[in-house]
Amino acid sequence: RPMIRLSGVGKTYADGTVAVHELDLEVRRGELLCLVGPSGCGKSTTLKMINRLIEPTTGRIEIDGQDVTRQNPVELRRGIGYVIQQVGLFPHQKVLTNVMTVPLLYGESRSVARDRARELMEMVGLDPATYADRYPHQLSGGEQQRVGVARALAADPPVLLMDEPFGAVDPVVRVRLQDEFLHLQQDLGKTVVLVTHDIDEAVRMGDRVAVFATGGRLAQHATPADLLGQ
Ligand code: ADP
Ligand code: ADP
Repeated sequence: RPMIRLSGVGKTYADGTVAVHELDLEVRRGELLCLVGPSGCGKSTTLKMINRLIEPTTGRIEIDGQDVTRQNPVELRRGIGYVIQQVGLFPHQKVLTNVMTVPLLYGESRSVARDRARELMEMVGLDPATYADRYPHQLSGGEQQRVGVARALAADPPVLLMDEPFGAVDPVVRVRLQDEFLHLQQDLGKTVVLVTHDIDEAVRMGDRVAVFATGGRLAQHATPADLLGQ
């Protein structure tokens, strides 16, 4: 069965805006699915419904066969890493502490949390010897994004949701981060949904690409090769 399944999912905001309409979508285990489309077509809303930051108006969302509305939101989010463009690091905490926070929250001891955080920093290419004691403002945009990815991986979630994660960094750094992230994803076998407005990024990174049209409708759902071939 798919890792994530949306059936007839819709979202109408309180002001009447139809952000997502009758969406059917499946993400296979270990797959990287890109959601692409113009600004305002419902990509972020879709992502936030998967981790229940937003409740759908209609339809049903399952993760690993389980209806998300039947799950405790805290437990649900423990299984889902979430990375956004505005990384939201704690500004008064050092990098290592930012990453340690998640394992500590889930009851790990300080020494286990610290080891885990160091391991994650290395995984995302930030040498702890150099970066552990810096504060977020002492990092470049790309480095902050890496810390955001490390923090999202800290609870070892099977699913990662990423909303324009590489949007804030310059184009050269972005391509490097994309490549590094792809290797990481393939090594760790995570199921990833990545939102982008950049079709090049979607085609580069996606195993499959879901193209949204204005009004929160799915226009296409295909492999990059099929998208480019038509
Ligand atoms: P995308 O991520 O593709 O840019 P969004 O999911 O953010 O699109 O937004 C989809 C639509 O819903 C847009 O028209 C947006 O203005 C609207 N929208 C988003 N959040 C809200 C909200 N809290 N209240 C009302 N409308 C919203
Ligand atoms: P970018 O090209 O992404 O904008 P920056 O010019 O901001 O990168 O940073 C370049 C390097 O300098 C990075 O390795 C970053 O960690 C380091 N750096 C940036 N600001 C500080 C600071 N205030 N203190 C220490 N190192 C910094």
